[in-house]
Amino acid sequence: YDLTEEDLAALEGDAAPVVEEALPTLAIIGRPNVGKSTLVNRIIGKRLAVVEDRPGVTRDRVNYRAEWAGRDFMLLDTGGWEKNVTGIDLSVAQAAEAAIELSDAIILVVDATVGATSTDEQVVRLLRKSGKPVVLAANKVDGPQGELEAAALWNLGLGEPYAISALHGRGTGDLLDAALAILPTEMPQVEVPEDMPRRIALVGRPNVGKSSLLNKLAGENRVVVHDVAGTTRDPVDETVEIDGRPFVLVDTAGIRRRVHQTKGADFYASLRTQTAIERAEIALVLLDASAPLTEQDTRVISQVVDAGRSMVLVFNKWDLVGEDERFLLERSIEQDLVQLRWAPRVNLSARTGWHTNRLMPAVDLALSSWDQRVSTGRLNTFLGELVAEHPHPVRSGKQPKILFGTQASTRPPRFVLFSSGFLDPTYRRFIERRLRENFGFEGTPIQISVRVRE
Ligand code: GDP
Ligand code: GDP
Repeated sequence: YDLTEEDLAALEGDAAPVVEEALPTLAIIGRPNVGKSTLVNRIIGKRLAVVEDRPGVTRDRVNYRAEWAGRDFMLLDTGGWEKNVTGIDLSVAQAAEAAIELSDAIILVVDATVGATSTDEQVVRLLRKSGKPVVLAANKVDGPQGELEAAALWNLGLGEPYAISALHGRGTGDLLDAALAILPTEMPQVEVPEDMPRRIALVGRPNVGKSSLLNKLAGENRVVVHDVAGTTRDPVDETVEIDGRPFVLVDTAGIRRRVHQTKGADFYASLRTQTAIERAEIALVLLDASAPLTEQDTRVISQVVDAGRSMVLVFNKWDLVGEDERFLLERSIEQDLVQLRWAPRVNLSARTGWHTNRLMPAVDLALSSWDQRVSTGRLNTFLGELVAEHPHPVRSGKQPKILFGTQASTRPPRFVLFSSGFLDPTYRRFIERRLRENFGFEGTPIQISVRVRE
């Protein structure tokens, strides 16, 4: 195809998807009472005390941002996991396995005054199997007299035991140096500062009214906002102010430029749509209310869902729908989009401007869902109740049990469930439905992955 410089820039340019800042995660694992929480406390210092002022908050949190020797990382606190989860018995080994899965490097804490127990050995086997880098902390060595007990932990086969006192701080600096040395530094990292204008893609098949809506939004509200961070980027994008707030409309150049019906135009348009979706945080999918849904419409919708972007369905040209047809039309839309009930719908007319003021509230709702995080405590209370009320059906004599769950990331919300067996697709969909009923998530796809443990 005849691609111009501008096209190439739009397709390849800064096509990096917007993701949450990703820092490597260091997990602290070990049996109850070996001093995990005390160590976490020591590493993150004062900030935990602040959190602890609010009862119930501390135990819900598992992930802390921490810093040592100028490096930022996430600290995964598993202290209390086994006590925390309502209705679910999580063994030390299961908690350890979940933590290993979710982290990039591990500190295994052993109580040197007790020595290695069979549970510690079980955890060591899991660590070996995972291949994740690990350092061994021999805790409760409050003075030089404990060094010998610490040295006995060489037996675990994890290399040098770092003798520490989490309580008094003895030796914790050396331990952290060793832990950071094995923590990977290369993480995909795209910073999204809080005050950046949010990025919107207007997508849909040709002639649904994208450029009309763009003109409505940009034409009336257009303010060239030079002073806002992040708006001096791609020339194919445009920053507009809507209801007093700046937004970036992604690839407005692609919408304005009429694509000729030449060979390959479809492919080109679809590629361009894909790029726009990936560069945006939310997609407004335009559909023509005066015509039946087409395969091309559903393909665009799938592109958004697969890319994990938030979404609002915009039914345009509502002015062409007669009063008497509206009810039936709503009904048939409802049926066509039964799988997409989670997406907010806005009926409007780009031509007359009718209901265009309903667009932004829907955008805000979808974006806040996309950003939403459910704490591990709340999630496991929810899972405990769900499993108690509606256990997974028995399959060939076995009943898969969900042991533990955590929201691994946002944008979009991604959940990881640890279970004792394979979960039926229908049961997964049931979990998704319940998650939505409980926590909202209107306007965002949700990803659920299941890790099976014997
Ligand atoms: P967790 O269950 O592994 O999170 O353990 P905690 O951090 O709650 O600690 C359990 C107990 O061990 C608490 O009473 C701590 O005060 C104590 N403890 C933790 N670290 C040390 C240490 O370095 N020396 C001594 N003497 N006690 C410690
Ligand atoms: P695009 O290809 O998606 O950018 O669609 P356009 O914005 O170019 O619109 C295609 C045609 O639909 C044009 O003739 C528009 O005037 C018309 N159109 C767009 N929005 C509306 C609307 O809300 N009502 C009506 N009646 N026509 C519209």
